[in-house]
Formats: sequence, structure tokens, C-alpha cells
Amino acid sequence: MLKGKTALVTGSSSGIGYAMAERLADAGANIVLHGLMDPAEGAALGKEFESRFGVECLFSDADISTAEGNEALVNASLEKFGQVDILINNAGIQFTASVEDFPVAKWDAIIAINLSSAFHTTRLLVPGMQARGWGRIINIASVHGLVASLQKAAYVAAKHGIVGLTKVVALENAEKGVTANAICPGWVDTELVAAQFQATADRDGVSFEEGKRRTIIAKQPVPKATQPSALGDLAVFLCSDAAATITGASLPVDGGWTAQ
Ligand code: NAD
Repeated sequence: MLKGKTALVTGSSSGIGYAMAERLADAGANIVLHGLMDPAEGAALGKEFESRFGVECLFSDADISTAEGNEALVNASLEKFGQVDILINNAGIQFTASVEDFPVAKWDAIIAINLSSAFHTTRLLVPGMQARGWGRIINIASVHGLVASLQKAAYVAAKHGIVGLTKVVALENAEKGVTANAICPGWVDTELVAAQFQATADRDGVSFEEGKRRTIIAKQPVPKATQPSALGDLAVFLCSDAAATITGASLPVDGGWTAQ
């Protein structure tokens, strides 16, 4: 379905981004893998994708916390593939503290990686999509793009910001064959949230699995975490012709978290 297309997935060295890259490669897209990973290991991962899926891959370890880092990532992608048709802005970090204690450097890093990076990659890649009359931009926001939680000032601000950015990009490209959507997951089974599951387990003196269950049900009516592969399947659907008129949407995949 996506043969001949190229997808850049930021933060695809692990977690949700990795699963998205797998599903897109399985659908035939060439892939730019990206993340903070040893370059030799990243290159090996790219080779593995090439043999598993019969697509071409590039790995980049550009630090996307700066405009220059995003430019390096985009330039490397264009140098290798000539174009990027599918852009998934997925890389993200988390830090928790009350607003009065929030370290300024952590605020700046979360806004840069979780929000500004998507601005940079989009501004650099959307002109090519417009010129070709086809493009898909998928921003991995969060339920925290729609509602708030305690201790997550920077994360919630960045995720609300990316939902807003998505809407503007959707409107500006509505007649150009380019869609922009945000996916808003609740709890997803990845390393990013494992520490939060462990913290509940430690607090309550229970196993990791029980800590995980308690963390999830504190927010989600559905008592289980979403699997990263399910988000990969959604991304592939958003790249299909059937999704051509889905744009500017913020799609919760959150076990009913935001239905309450
Ligand atoms: P993860 O920690 O497994 O992956 C994060 C990725 O971002 C990694 O590839 C990492 O190398 C990359 N990254 C981080 N900082 C970077 C930097 N400065 N430069 C380049 N790359 C950088 O996390 P995940 O759970 O897969 O999260 C992916 C996205 O999904 C994030 O935006 C996160 O906010 C969002 N999300 C996650 C959950 C969840 O429950 N896991 C829920 C909602 C939203």
C-alpha cells in the first residue's frame, strides 16, 4: 500500500515510534529510523528492517532538541531518499514536578523535543508534500494534549501545543492533499511509563504488574495499556486513501480516559 513512499519517524529507536516504523515498513514504506541510540546499533537496526521488510532504511541519531538538529535529520533524509511523504513526529520525553519546582532546563527540553521539533520537521518537509500533492503528518500527542494531570506542566503544555499545531497545519493544507492528525494515547506499554508503574508498585508495596494495573485504572476505564503495534496500525490507516478526509483530528486511543 505504501510502496514508493518514504516515512520519517522521529524517536523510532524504541517504543511507539519503533512499532510505527515496523507497521509502515510492513506496508511497504521506506523508513528513516531515528533516535538517541548508538549509531552502529542504529545502522544494524536499519539493516534488519531492510531484510525483514524489503524496504530501504536510513538511521539518524540527530539530537532534535535544537533547530539545527532537526535540520540535520531532514537533510539526511532528503539526501538519502529525495523526499519524505509521511512524517511522524513521535519523539518525546517526560519529567514530573509541581510547577513551582519544575527545573527550567527540563521545561525547555520538553518544549523543544515534544513540541518545537514537530514545528521544525513540518516547516521543512511540508513544501515537498504540497508540491507532490500528497502527504501525511501524524503527531503523537497524548491524552495530555486534551486534559491535564498533576506534576506534568511542561508535558501537558507541549502536548496541548502539538494538538494546536496539528489543526493549523491541517487547515493550511486542506486543499493540497496533505493531512495532519494527532494521535492521543492514554497508557501505552513502553519504557517511558515503566518508571511510573514501578513508582506505584514501590509506593503500595506490590509487584510491578499490580503497580501497573493500579496506575492504569486510576485514569483509564479500560484496565489495560495500549500496545504500541495498535498505534502503528492506526498510523498505517491514516496513510490510506480511506483516511484522505480525516484531518485536523485529535484521535484518543485511551481506554476511555477522556470520555469521563
Ligand atoms: P520512548 O522513551 O520509548 O521513546 C522516545 C524516543 O524519543 C526514543 O527513540 C528516544 O531516543 C527519542 N528521543 C528522546 N529525546 C530525543 C532527542 N533529544 N533527540 C532525538 N531523539 C530523542 O517513549 P514512547 O513511550 O515510545 O513515547 C513516544 C511518544 O509517545 C512520546 O511523544 C510520548 O510523549 C508519547 N506518548 C507515550 C505514551 C505512553 O504511555 N508510553 C502515552 C501517550 C503519549
